[in-house]
Amino acid sequence: MNQAKEHYDVVIIGAGPAGLACATELSKSALRILILEQKDIIGPKICAGGLTRKDFNHIQVPEQLMDVRFKEMTLHASLLNTTLKDKCDMLSTIDRRKFATWQLRKLEGLSNVEIKTGCKVIAIDKEKVALEDLSSYGYKYLIGADGAFSCVRRFLGVKTEDTAIAIQYIIPTDRYKKLEFFFDSKLFHAWYAWIFPHDSYVSIGCMCDPRNLSAKKLQKNFNKWLSKKNIDVSKGKFEGYAINYDYRGYRFGNIFLAGDAAGLGSGLTGEGIYQAIVSGEEVAKTVLDEKYEAPGIKDLLETKRLQNNAMRALIKMGPLRNIVFFALIPAVKNKKLVGKILKYIS
Ligand SMILES: Cc1cc2nc3c(=O)[nH]c(=O)nc-3n(C[C@H](O)[C@H](O)[C@H](O)COP(=O)(O)OP(=O)(O)OC[C@H]3O[C@@H](n4cnc5c(N)ncnc54)[C@H](O)[C@@H]3O)c2cc1C
Repeated sequence: MNQAKEHYDVVIIGAGPAGLACATELSKSALRILILEQKDIIGPKICAGGLTRKDFNHIQVPEQLMDVRFKEMTLHASLLNTTLKDKCDMLSTIDRRKFATWQLRKLEGLSNVEIKTGCKVIAIDKEKVALEDLSSYGYKYLIGADGAFSCVRRFLGVKTEDTAIAIQYIIPTDRYKKLEFFFDSKLFHAWYAWIFPHDSYVSIGCMCDPRNLSAKKLQKNFNKWLSKKNIDVSKGKFEGYAINYDYRGYRFGNIFLAGDAAGLGSGLTGEGIYQAIVSGEEVAKTVLDEKYEAPGIKDLLETKRLQNNAMRALIKMGPLRNIVFFALIPAVKNKKLVGKILKYIS
């Protein structure tokens, strides 16, 4: 690797929600920070753009940034369905590009933060990172906020075994008004399909862990389900990406992982924006204070533990899973149970 062109206190790889949240927190110090992002445009990412209640409470996203806010959601299992309602918003949808623009605004005009786009990191050593054009940048602290296929995680030799895949159609339409979740063990195994309306498009997708249902089978089942539901995807864009939910630590000496790179995505629900933001902030606070114990990451890990247990139980149930989904529909009329479910998923 060439000698480093410039040295920074902190180099962050990836300008997703984790990298930008981390930089915002670090920018309050005097440290010199460099963010390297491989894409030319910051923001677009394959994602359904759903933020649940805990997310918007923590992130304090301005209302005008949200595409659609939902006070109710409909759950479907076989021929039954039920609608959960609440006085407050349960979920809202956001556009990832608009969301990134909002995050970026907090970094505008700061002299200690530099963002370089179109800069893919292709090599890392103990002191510096190198780009495709072979230029390199030295670091004191390195932060891998580079998503599900993190090169920092690879450099650290951290294994990744628990990975989910999520696929979706983004269809330009305002036809869909309801937030809906579909549980069908035969098609989606222990996972689900969703309809997330945005203001000018809809995300219709599903997810699974490919060890239980291969990506090919998931896509076949998804298409079957779409045609059964008469969902016209002819104008839609099909896309898919991985969600890393294999958490194995966030701190490795002077190198840190945040968000999907740390395996903090949810293997059960597919969520990861909240985890990315919280872990990005917590990593920054740890860089600034060696003794900081990162309570936010502890909370994320506790939710992860509960979700993983629920997911494993659903996987183990095999053919009984559909009966459980079916039984859940009338059961969610029970307010106490709804409260518990919403705590897990919103
Ligand atoms: C289909 C689908 C639907 C989803 N829906 C939701 C949802 O509704 N709600 C939710 O909360 N989560 C959802 N997620 C998960 C969510 O998208 C991720 O968890 C979240 O984006 C993670 O944020 P991050 O900052 O950790 O990583 P990312 O958003 O992946 O950002 C990583 C950044 O690093 C950059 N990068 C990667 N490698 C390099 C490199 N070598 N050099 C420089 N830059 C690099 C990438 O270009 C990217 O900008 C969904 C995921 C999928 C696949």
